[in-house]
Amino acid sequence: EFKIIAIDGGAAVGKSSTSKGLAERLDLMHVDTGAHYRTITFALLATGASPEDDLQDTLAALDLKTHLDRRTARLCIDGRVPTEVEIRSPEVNASVSKFAAIPAVRQSLFEYQRNQANVGREEGFRGLIMEGRDIGSIIFPDAQHRFFLEADEATRAARRAKEGQTDSIADRDKMDKARKTAPLVCPEGAIRVDTGPRSLEEVIEHIINLIGT
Ligand code: C5P
Repeated sequence: EFKIIAIDGGAAVGKSSTSKGLAERLDLMHVDTGAHYRTITFALLATGASPEDDLQDTLAALDLKTHLDRRTARLCIDGRVPTEVEIRSPEVNASVSKFAAIPAVRQSLFEYQRNQANVGREEGFRGLIMEGRDIGSIIFPDAQHRFFLEADEATRAARRAKEGQTDSIADRDKMDKARKTAPLVCPEGAIRVDTGPRSLEEVIEHIINLIGT
């Protein structure tokens, strides 16, 4: 059976390292939907668009494909996968949550994200692990396993600082929780995991035990 694991949580709670580690351990394809929103933001900013614009036509014209990088599936937009530096720039950090709050932007990614399960199957993985803010609530509410990662403020700030990022995670979380479409919440029935007091290895072990494989 093809397993789907949903990992949600706020900024810098450890979603990406945890998801990548679990993907290795369980032979899953890994999809970072935060990177999807960052990639769309990067592409929109490149066209000179702002979150106040009517983006319907621009969004409809975007060609979305998947580029598999070992076990990580990346969003290829109009034939190009933007680099990590491009999608994690201060400009993208500052506007990604504004674009992500727009229903048309989320709609443009919905089918694409749901379809990642088929990509994973076709590529021969045993399952899919997808991380984001609305995976267990909206994209895969029927996933076999749904987790919500949390950590105290100090831990999160320390983690982000170690990555050397100019990124106001508190502002992004505030916007992500306050928006009307797909707000950041712990999906009903998802298992909460506190990553603050645990090392990465401990978080991964803990989740593997909960999954029961
Ligand atoms: O995961 P990351 O912090 O890179 O996500 C960047 C931003 O993308 C989030 O702050 C949020 O605004 C948006 N996002 C979202 N829904 C998701 C994943 C990310 O709205 N499923």
